[in-house]
Amino acid sequence: MSIAADAKEMQGEIARFRHELHQEPEIGLDLPRTQEKVLKALDGLPYEITLGESTTSVTAVLRGGAPHASAQKPTVLLRADMDGLPVQERTGVEFSSKIDGAMHACGHDLHTSMLAGAATLLAERRHQLAGDVVLMFQPGEEGFDGAGHMIREGILDAAGRRVDAAYGMHVFSSLEPYGQFCTKPGVMMSASDGLFVTVLGAGGHGSAPHAAKDPVTAAAEMVTALQTMITRQFNMFDPVVLTVGVLQAGTKRNVIPESARFEATIRTFSEASRDRMMTAIPQLLKGIAAGHGLEVDVDYRGEYPMTVTDEDETHTAENVISGMFGDSRLSRWATPMSGSEDFSRVLAEVPGTFVGLSAVPQGVDHTTSPFNHSPYATFDDGVLSDGAALYAELAVSRIATLAASN
Ligand SMILES: [Zn+2]
Repeated sequence: MSIAADAKEMQGEIARFRHELHQEPEIGLDLPRTQEKVLKALDGLPYEITLGESTTSVTAVLRGGAPHASAQKPTVLLRADMDGLPVQERTGVEFSSKIDGAMHACGHDLHTSMLAGAATLLAERRHQLAGDVVLMFQPGEEGFDGAGHMIREGILDAAGRRVDAAYGMHVFSSLEPYGQFCTKPGVMMSASDGLFVTVLGAGGHGSAPHAAKDPVTAAAEMVTALQTMITRQFNMFDPVVLTVGVLQAGTKRNVIPESARFEATIRTFSEASRDRMMTAIPQLLKGIAAGHGLEVDVDYRGEYPMTVTDEDETHTAENVISGMFGDSRLSRWATPMSGSEDFSRVLAEVPGTFVGLSAVPQGVDHTTSPFNHSPYATFDDGVLSDGAALYAELAVSRIATLAASN
């Protein structure tokens, strides 16, 4: 039977596993219960398992048994992230989170269950595989750089040599119609950086600001000046996004506080813009502070690089998707999206691609449904078998072409 047909038969099993994960989300790099569940799902399958040292990651290597013509046995990596978010679930689904204040609001429970399903599909075909498969079950995608940890611990050489191609997948609860796969060669997602600013003034009585140094008015000016800077200093054809999500100062209305602070997230789609941000922001903020006789501490922290997919690997994935599900199920994005991903770290090291999959609930308008990270973000189980089948088929077909090449 085909991988897609076999996967269909596993749909119930994959959905049950997804529900187990969904009910007990964990956040960050330490996901002991999730790791336990993944190990249980892999139990009895012929994988070489390695657990993370600095995190609760799971690396599983399948040794293919078929002969290969290439000089070196090919290796393909498949990645699923496993972490949830600090969000109180409000979807009302019957398998809703049982953990207060934690939710699989980004669909990583689908990724993990789909990759576990693919593990079974691949194990059943082990003797036809002329190469090895590395499964990367990764914690801490949501701002904890779990991928960076796994790379430092050797995931890209887990099979004993460097991975030849790497594939990741991400579900969405909006954007595209149900079941649609999405690709984009080149820059697919933005780089993500963090800005942490403290404006240092001198506290005093609210009735006598001349005798103090007010950090609040300066911080407010900085927040708006940053938006002006973006429209005046950056090319509109190379977009950037800067959002101040934290703004804090003061304890009482008639007290001028000693300091004010704010934090922002910055998304860029080119190295040139990213570099420019790193110099333009401190220059602007220091200038405003100096103008008011204040000081400012500016901490610009690089987080995730841009997600850049390999052109050839993207075409490979597109051919696999069209072959399995038909051309109508495939959309190629004209523009990148302003989300960010730590799978970017893998794609910076080895060729590969990232595939989007719409899991918007069937019958719901994908243009208005709540997007990932919303407490209402709802992902349809129906895509699970197709996602598992695609993971498995990407490994099988890429290993076949790599094994045939000299
Ligand atoms: Zn995510």
